[in-house]
Amino acid sequence: MRTHYTNQITPADAGKDVVVCGWVHEVRDMGKLMFVLLRDRSGIIQITAKSGVTAEPVMAALHGIPKESVLRVSGSVLACKPAPGGVEVSPKSVEVLSVSKSPLPMDVTGKVKAEIDTRLDNRFMDLRKPEVAAIFKLRSRIVSAGIKYLENSGFIEVHTPKIIASASEGGTELFPIAYFDKEAFLAQSPQLYKQTMMSAGFDRVYEIARYFRAEEHDTVRHLNEIMAFDIEMSFIKDEADIMDVLEGLSLAVIKSAAESEEIKFLKKEIEVPKKVDRLRYDDVLDMIAGQGKKIEWGHDIDTEGEKVLGRIMAKEGKDIYFITKYPLNIKPFYTMPDTNKKYARAFDLEHTGDEISSGGQRIHDHAFLVKRLKHWNLKPENFEFYLKAFEYGMPPHGGFGLGIERILMKILNTQIREVVLFPRDRYRLTP
Ligand code: ATP
Ligand code: MG
Repeated sequence: MRTHYTNQITPADAGKDVVVCGWVHEVRDMGKLMFVLLRDRSGIIQITAKSGVTAEPVMAALHGIPKESVLRVSGSVLACKPAPGGVEVSPKSVEVLSVSKSPLPMDVTGKVKAEIDTRLDNRFMDLRKPEVAAIFKLRSRIVSAGIKYLENSGFIEVHTPKIIASASEGGTELFPIAYFDKEAFLAQSPQLYKQTMMSAGFDRVYEIARYFRAEEHDTVRHLNEIMAFDIEMSFIKDEADIMDVLEGLSLAVIKSAAESEEIKFLKKEIEVPKKVDRLRYDDVLDMIAGQGKKIEWGHDIDTEGEKVLGRIMAKEGKDIYFITKYPLNIKPFYTMPDTNKKYARAFDLEHTGDEISSGGQRIHDHAFLVKRLKHWNLKPENFEFYLKAFEYGMPPHGGFGLGIERILMKILNTQIREVVLFPRDRYRLTP
């Protein structure tokens, strides 16, 4: 229907005939002279209609056109310094494709600020705002940058089931669903299936995974449905091999954002670190104790502890860093103990005081895995399909899950609801 997106038209096109399509962003109607700002995905262009120049039926179609109506405009390009992009279109014909109701449920021009709940209730309209749309263009960009990094690193994409029969990894609550005459659940992560792929010999797999977590969070960094770069890889020496991939992936994602048009448009600046520090859990406890935050050895680093560490690292100009060598007792049953069995070959990746990823080396010995399940009071018979994959040749392996919303919200320094089209939280199930 169109010849150009609005941002493709420049003063060099003066004299050319073009066809543009989009939404009526603003109208200034002075009777004999009318300016209509037409907005599409790429930007905004000015349509200038003048009595005497513009045909009367075209003037008539534009008079009183409600904001956010959808138009197809054919016309010729004129250079015009004060207009957006330095150009305007003198319309030869206008087709009204869809008339908007008014008043609008919210303002799209950025003049009137709305609360996040009003915005999410009217998300289709909120997303018309260029600064909101930019977040999702950036989301698309970082996901494809991440995929590119993984594919270049020899990972193949897999898709594991999201309807599961229970016996997930434990640790978080599951959403039960009715599955014919059986009880089933939504998967909290692809953990057990992606490990099974290591027994299958796939060597390196990734999934752009969806996690469903039935936890009653009320924070700016948790939702009940999220997505992650989820990977698993075989024939590793130890967890450092996995951290190398996570570091490479995170930096590739951050770099793609730093170099993006969207970041420029949002007037943000991002630095891409050259390397990522690897702090030991024990040292982290000392560092935060130095700031008056005491955590007893063997306990997880709580939210406040993470924030204190975030501030210490920020002073050194470091936004992103690992915490390694956690105590074994706070990591999931499948975690490989370190040479010193008090510790786990497990790590978290943190960004400015929040976790963005967890991972580690997994146990690959069947008998030891069964022992660890029992230690956690889990029933091996509930893990039959998983355990079987360990009885017929399982290589040393490990992996991680890197939350897509977490890394994006950290890149943008915003809250998680801003980076999900239709967030699912304790209270929000629609739209
Ligand atoms: P947290 O301690 O931050 O609640 P977690 O340790 O329970 O997270 P993991 O099971 O380690 O989460 O999941 C791997 C990654 O998935 C996390 O590092 C995070 O990036 C993301 N993630 C997990 N749960 C959520 C959630 N409820 N909301 C948003 N992101 C999440
Ligand atoms: Mg975690």
